[in-house]
Amino acid sequence: MEEKKYDVVIVGGGPAGLSAAAFCGRKFLRTAVFEGDCWGGILTRCCPDKRIDNYPGAPRGISAGDLAGLFFDGALEAGADLIECAVEEISPEGRIRATNVEATAKVVILACGSAAAEANIRGEREFAGRGGVYYMVPDPARFRGKRVVVVGGGDTAVSHVQRLDGIADRVTLVHRQAGLRSQHGFPEPAARSRSLDILLCTAAEEILGSERVEGVRMKDLGDGRIFDVPADAVIVAAGRVPNTTLFRDLGLRVDSKGQVVTDAWQKTSTARILAVGDVSSPLKMIITAVAQAAAAAQEAYLEIRAPYWAA
Ligand SMILES: Cc1cc2nc3c(=O)[nH]c(=O)nc-3n(C[C@H](O)[C@H](O)[C@H](O)COP(=O)(O)OP(=O)(O)OC[C@H]3O[C@@H](n4cnc5c(N)ncnc54)[C@H](O)[C@@H]3O)c2cc1C
Repeated sequence: MEEKKYDVVIVGGGPAGLSAAAFCGRKFLRTAVFEGDCWGGILTRCCPDKRIDNYPGAPRGISAGDLAGLFFDGALEAGADLIECAVEEISPEGRIRATNVEATAKVVILACGSAAAEANIRGEREFAGRGGVYYMVPDPARFRGKRVVVVGGGDTAVSHVQRLDGIADRVTLVHRQAGLRSQHGFPEPAARSRSLDILLCTAAEEILGSERVEGVRMKDLGDGRIFDVPADAVIVAAGRVPNTTLFRDLGLRVDSKGQVVTDAWQKTSTARILAVGDVSSPLKMIITAVAQAAAAAQEAYLEIRAPYWAA
């Protein structure tokens, strides 16, 4: 098997990894990005049609799919090798093993992102395997005419609800707390879509049905009342967990939420291994992923080229 030699290898081709590749390439570092699923990360996989409203430089918004395309083009134009392959092993010395490809790097940048967390509802795993429980909404049209329960109260849950508006027959948002965590929120009740119900202080206890999802058993956390909401599908938006399994053996320091601990230059506890984006950031946003990528590229440059002016 051919072994490729790079200055920098980046694991993950989402906003963080592709931006790091663009910044490294512009510094003439020989750079590769490995992507095991789809270029653009969450933006392409979870919500390509979503309008991103909070990315500076796009004041009228930009579709997630288009933004992902720009990140991809930026990495390509900066001269990075974009390798479609999942990384299976990373050694502390910078040896990277993927299916059919091996590479060495002077600096490794981890940009593996995060995965949707389970909500631990009875029946969730069984129906997730059979289709009926989902963790993302890549194509809202799939839910046309359906009754959908969305579990969660953060930005992702609210974003799912908004994208299903006018498509799903009825959407019920259920959240354990007394208020939503989302910073976007909904219009006042009178102005809301009539097909939206919001259940606060309520827990989704069990997904009901035999062959397919037929409803969700709820518990009112105030008075303990149990009631069922008819549903054809459940979308879980219970937060995200960093993808750290790949490099568990590297012994990187992680915090209580499983996020890789870094300093302001994205250095981890292991020399020449940096981490950027959702895998390490408490603030999971595109702009923070991009900003961290810029810092990591600078750190990689200083490590590899050791310029006289940095001494
Ligand atoms: C539904 C939803 C809506 C959102 N909306 C917004 C928004 O409007 N504005 C905003 O600022 N943020 C938004 N976010 C957050 C934003 O998408 C993330 O912060 C951003 O995508 C993080 O980029 P990343 O590159 O770190 O991770 P990701 O986008 O998760 O990309 C990581 C990539 O690494 C790859 N990977 C993982 N392991 C390996 C491996 N072993 N080998 C090779 N590749 C690997 C994955 O396949 C993935 O493509 C949203 C998130 C969600 C879930």
